[in-house]
Amino acid sequence: MDKNAATISEDLDQAHSALTAAGVAGTWVGADDVEALGNRKGAYILALRLAAIARVAVPGRDTISFKPAWYFYAGSARGSGGIRARLKRHFRHRKKIHWHIDRLTVNASLMAGFAVTNGRECDLVGHLLASQRFTIAAKGFGNTDCTVCHSHLLRRM
Ligand SMILES: [Zn+2]
Repeated sequence: MDKNAATISEDLDQAHSALTAAGVAGTWVGADDVEALGNRKGAYILALRLAAIARVAVPGRDTISFKPAWYFYAGSARGSGGIRARLKRHFRHRKKIHWHIDRLTVNASLMAGFAVTNGRECDLVGHLLASQRFTIAAKGFGNTDCTVCHSHLLRRM
């Protein structure tokens, strides 16, 4: 295994461990196996790897610089199409920018999703933070509709 692959597996494993410790079962899926999720609804973690610095202009805020690293975004998909449809959209590099997270996924070199049926995105943020292995990547990023979390975007400490 090369160094890059080892880093990939370590970051995703840490998130998996944090979720397992919190009693959340699941596994990482990529674009190749996302169909297996069927029509499950709930919440998910999207892991995305930035290979280079991404400078993201968020309307009404200063531009944020994201250094090369893995980032972990918690979102929900309770509508038709469920988590599978949402992850497939995240995995696409070409799309109309709609959410904060779209500005990162279009620059991501690798992505994976972790589906949690009937889960709540804020609980997933809480589980990752509680492991003390993750920290907030950018305050106010991706949680416009949330009054509980400081952010829905985390990274490894
Ligand atoms: Zn939240």
